[in-house]
Amino acid sequence: MMRKAVFAVFGLSIAACSSASDVAAITPDASASLDATATPDGSAPDGSAGADASAAPDGASGNACSLAASTSPTSKVSADGCAVLTRDASACNAARVAAGLTGDWLKFSCRVTLTVDKLTGPVPFVLVSADSQPDYLSNYFATSSACYENYQVKGMPTPNKIAVQSVKSKVPLTPDAKGVAKKTNNAGVAVNGVWLFNDAAAPPDDIYKAINSFDRCTGHPDPQNGGTYHYHIEPTSISNDDANLVGVMRDGYFVYGRRDLSLVVPSDLDANGGHTTVTSHSPNTPVYHYHLKQETSTNPGTLGQMAWFVGVGNFHGSVLP
Ligand SMILES: [Zn+2]
Ligand SMILES: [Zn+2]
Repeated sequence: MMRKAVFAVFGLSIAACSSASDVAAITPDASASLDATATPDGSAPDGSAGADASAAPDGASGNACSLAASTSPTSKVSADGCAVLTRDASACNAARVAAGLTGDWLKFSCRVTLTVDKLTGPVPFVLVSADSQPDYLSNYFATSSACYENYQVKGMPTPNKIAVQSVKSKVPLTPDAKGVAKKTNNAGVAVNGVWLFNDAAAPPDDIYKAINSFDRCTGHPDPQNGGTYHYHIEPTSISNDDANLVGVMRDGYFVYGRRDLSLVVPSDLDANGGHTTVTSHSPNTPVYHYHLKQETSTNPGTLGQMAWFVGVGNFHGSVLP
């Protein structure tokens, strides 16, 4: 069912993506919503802001989920029915190249705004901006949204709804190796603009139990951050036991799927989930990068359960404020 819906959207997406004005429109919409969700009282977890924000573009394009425009499913589908998506970034490619971005930076969805700033910080950085909404259907959208799907999560549904955020992260263009800070909730940004969280749940919750609250494509909204949709583990619309680019961490190092460019699962990852070898971004010169890292629960309630986490340990490099 999901794949049919996405196919139906794809026809529309080509037209939507061919105009620069449509792409530009994403940014003002997202920042307008930020103002609504940024109220300090934290009263947004009901998701009403997100539902409203996603309802507007959906209504404009009929019943199709506008967030899924420019995506198309591959044949790789998870056991839960989540297809790895191809994300067509051709509409924003020229602007990114003109800004000096190369390699894996060009793989980020056009729903992610990448602005190169070489002047205003201590080091040149890429300002990564996105709304942290998934670009596929989820049971965590409001039922009135065209992006809602009826999917039964595995035993621990949450009442939270996805709300539009304004994810902004200054990522060093040339990362260093001075990192000591622990990866946090907002550890990085996925290629589709969704926040990457670490391998911990808010105490006393057990992250391995929280997996039972994930939607079809392994994300869920956060009750403590106004409905921020995010990933803790392998995001199966992006990577599924492969070497795909998952996103970029806040220290400027890219994070990839379980496998290296050679398709081998690396056995030499450090405590931060990284190592130094060639990547799709740097195919000739070895560079530090992260992978999804498998960890096993030592918690009494979930002892022995395993998962591939996206943000383990500390940052390898410095993180900009
Ligand atoms: Zn979470
Ligand atoms: Zn690697």
